[in-house]
Amino acid sequence: MQDNIKMAELLLPHIDKTPDYYENLYPERNLKEGARVTRVAPSPTGYLHIGTLFTSLVNRIAATSSEGIFFTRIEDTDKKREIEGGIENIIDGLNRFGITIDEGFVSGTEEKGDYGPYQQSKRAEIYQTYVKELIRQGLAYPCFCTSEELEEIRAQQEKDNIRTGYHGKWAVHRNITFEEAKEKVDAGLPFVIRLKSPGSEENKVIFDDMIKGKIEMPENDEDFVLLKSDGIPTYHFAHAIDDHLMHTTVVMRGDEWISSVPKHIQLFRLLGFKVPKFAHVSPIMKLDGGAKRKISKRKDPEAAVHFFIEEGFDALCVVEYLMTIAASDFEDFRRANPDKPYTEFKFNLKKMSVSGALFDENKLIDVSKNVVSKMSGQEVSEKITNWAKEFDTEFYALLSKDENYTKAIFSIDRDCAKPRKDIAKWKEAKDYVSYFFEELFTPDYTLPENIEKQDAKAFLTEYKSVYNESDDKQQWFDRIKELCPALNFAAETKAYKADPSAYKGHAGDLSTVLRIAITGRRNTPDLCSIMKVLGKDKCMERIDRIISVL
Ligand code: GLU
Repeated sequence: MQDNIKMAELLLPHIDKTPDYYENLYPERNLKEGARVTRVAPSPTGYLHIGTLFTSLVNRIAATSSEGIFFTRIEDTDKKREIEGGIENIIDGLNRFGITIDEGFVSGTEEKGDYGPYQQSKRAEIYQTYVKELIRQGLAYPCFCTSEELEEIRAQQEKDNIRTGYHGKWAVHRNITFEEAKEKVDAGLPFVIRLKSPGSEENKVIFDDMIKGKIEMPENDEDFVLLKSDGIPTYHFAHAIDDHLMHTTVVMRGDEWISSVPKHIQLFRLLGFKVPKFAHVSPIMKLDGGAKRKISKRKDPEAAVHFFIEEGFDALCVVEYLMTIAASDFEDFRRANPDKPYTEFKFNLKKMSVSGALFDENKLIDVSKNVVSKMSGQEVSEKITNWAKEFDTEFYALLSKDENYTKAIFSIDRDCAKPRKDIAKWKEAKDYVSYFFEELFTPDYTLPENIEKQDAKAFLTEYKSVYNESDDKQQWFDRIKELCPALNFAAETKAYKADPSAYKGHAGDLSTVLRIAITGRRNTPDLCSIMKVLGKDKCMERIDRIISVL
């Protein structure tokens, strides 16, 4: 037997399959020409990060735009960093934001698709089969260096001002013989498997990143680790095997991986795989003291998507906002197609920011108000009630007392041609509608400067006897106008403007007084509708109340 083959048997004796077995098990996908297969490959190490949501959205939309497939894969090779419920956190989060998953993990516990398992910890045998093949071909070897020895190498390299890493003459086990290896294995020494890199620093790798454009880097000459001593692969190796066997066409991931691309391209080539396309997504940035930096898990609450959920941003609002960051032409699409779902947007990776888009909360609020303004009263009232159930039990108790009342509140100035763009997030709703609930009603009875208290009182007293609940908006305002002459107010603003000194004010001022009486504030949606929802008795009670305190 050739030494390489003996070496492969020595190191991975339990592996009895060859790569052909898996190549047949996971055949080419049957998709139309040009369909992209994309994926997101999170590690279950915490909550869903806004960056992961963003990358998932971009992957999803790139697949959708080409009638392709988007799948999830759980990268759980680092068991030390894994947290309980980590898969649920991420996949349920994606589901909550409406990111449809075609294949892979579709919930915390369920996976589907013909290319699984979609969890790296369940694929050890697959990786080992391919490593065994590389050893047979003399392209990989065992390394028995202890961490102390590796540390010494590094210290020496730093001292000599040499690029650190396991390369060239520093790769001490690169030429280990079968006999040497056998002796160590028999002695029970732990080992990793390293790539025997045929690359040279002198040569260049050039690739065309679908987002960042042409990139040129030195070839990889490092004998990096493929399998760790526990038989579990490194990210680099697992990525090559998985994306090959799952037939990913575009590897779209965070741009912190760009520097590793020479290693990845080298692996794909040595393994005889077609090199996929790469698209490196810039992170979402934040302004901090005038400087741009990556949104940080440690410093920024908005790094966790849970923050947006708690604030009461609807999932669709966040996604629509992320789309404006993802593609510089999305807003044009939105203007031209106000009612189309974002999933119909034709996504072009070349329109993505190369340097990293800034997270802008004001923009999110604007986008959000737009999205919410298009929802029906029914939808808004249900969403707010659901949100309150989770995050504001006091408000929830009020909202759920009378569903029809709640729905009527949130239907004001909605479901019409020009709906109000007032609510951006559910958390604001409580204050926004507080005057509908006696328990929350804390009126500010400050009158406009030009209105005397006696005039306000006189108007309100008269108004009580003319209010008719069945009036439409026009009739409602006419009643106020009719009261004007007797109080020396102008019924028409025009008349008032023509000769302000002839009047105490105009009908608009009186409607403000009424608004203050009913809602305790100067600015609200349509007052006529508010009064109908509150009901005549409540309105009369509120008028009496202000009269008694003025
Ligand atoms: N597990 C890697 C990460 O979370 C995945 C990178 C990739 O998409 O290939 O960064």
